[in-house]
Amino acid sequence: MKYRRAKIIATLGPKCSDRKSVQTLADFGVNCFRINLSHGTIEEKKYYFDLVRSISISEKDRPSILADLAGPKIRISGLDGEMCLEVGDKIVLSNEKEGPDVIPVSSNVAFLGVNPGAKIMIDDGQITLEVINQISSRTLECRTETSGIIKKRKGVNFPGVALDVPCLTNQDLIDLELALSRGADWIALSFTRNAKDYIQVQSRMRDLGFQIPVMAKIEKWEAVENLDEIVDAFDAVMVARGDLGVELPVEQVPLIQKNVIEKASLAGKPVVIATQILESMTVNPVPTRAEVSDIANAILDGADALMVTGETAIGAFPQKVIQVLDRVIEETEDAINYDEYYNSRGQNLLSTAQAISHAACSVAHDLNINVLVTMTHSGSTARMVSRYRPAARIIAMTPFPEICRQLSIVWGITPFLVKNYKNADDITNEVGTALKNRELIIEGEKFVITGGVPIGSPGTTNYLSVLKP
Ligand code: PGA
Ligand code: MN
Repeated sequence: MKYRRAKIIATLGPKCSDRKSVQTLADFGVNCFRINLSHGTIEEKKYYFDLVRSISISEKDRPSILADLAGPKIRISGLDGEMCLEVGDKIVLSNEKEGPDVIPVSSNVAFLGVNPGAKIMIDDGQITLEVINQISSRTLECRTETSGIIKKRKGVNFPGVALDVPCLTNQDLIDLELALSRGADWIALSFTRNAKDYIQVQSRMRDLGFQIPVMAKIEKWEAVENLDEIVDAFDAVMVARGDLGVELPVEQVPLIQKNVIEKASLAGKPVVIATQILESMTVNPVPTRAEVSDIANAILDGADALMVTGETAIGAFPQKVIQVLDRVIEETEDAINYDEYYNSRGQNLLSTAQAISHAACSVAHDLNINVLVTMTHSGSTARMVSRYRPAARIIAMTPFPEICRQLSIVWGITPFLVKNYKNADDITNEVGTALKNRELIIEGEKFVITGGVPIGSPGTTNYLSVLKP
């Protein structure tokens, strides 16, 4: 049976804000909806959470929700109207001063580490300033290097500078509570800088009585420097190419993307590629050839999921965007040599969990088996198997709907909700019937089953068997 292995994440926004259009996007293959908490009022944010919860993807479940915290993004704030800058203009950037030649920015940042000569990029780097002088920790004197019109709410980036900003702003604390209470399955943290950011988000969630996985958005130069510890600490990563291409020279983005995919997928952490995936389709009904190639290459490199942003949130053709993405991914996946993946990833299998999950893929390959069942309570076994990128379809059987939803962004995994089970024998009898009922296998067709026994302790994948219903 045909299915798509890499997943699709779509951002909600004004162009997909009613039940019918969001249900259509889900029907066309969106696995997870991203709610961008950088924009909108509390009421609008609540509306989007409730909207996804009203959508169904099977009789028992809904698509998953990725709640994206704005993080310490510096923005133009409190500007009345626009401000036109010419090359050479002297200007002040401040969050304490006001005046006709002052660009007002977010109040949460101090400019202690910003020295003369540093560059400031405004509105995705369209306007650039050079710092002449640090007047105070809250005010910088600058000269315009690239002219343009400054508008309110646009982003301000300081490439190469370590800014003094908290990892969670006051707005993030409010949004985090809202997201958790309204059914978020994943949290994304914008402008992640290091592994300590993970501890801060998790401890805040614990205080609120929740524990869900957190994805680091790789979009700051510090995150690229600290990539190893971030992949280690966080539950997933996203290559957020928009801000990344401002924080670092844009020509570095493709190789950083490849490196992040390689590191994260080897570690069994899902990796999402985001931004400008089908940018031209915001206004055109067909993609550019370059966009299609970019998607295909991300799939060949082994990305778990691709995320569209403005294409669905504010674009003219949200449904066509999902159809194109779905088709390009499927076509590309048809050409993948899965044996190469799991052979090359089968080196240095240091733990029982690694060796067993890799062996499960080998057994499926050797016996030409199409379905590989993972019994997973926490989702760990399913992710372990997924990282070897087998040709067989990975079924993640779990008794928890929230784990099903968390796994819906992971490469190759088909989540499968089952009734709670305590031991492997309990469930193996029923699995065959369930697989047949869902037409995933036919009578007499073998399947591989793997998991951790005794059931229920994450990371203990140690069981492997081949069954036939
Ligand atoms: P954003 O993140 O849309 O929240 O800015 C994505 C990116 O920067 O690429
Ligand atoms: Mn960003």
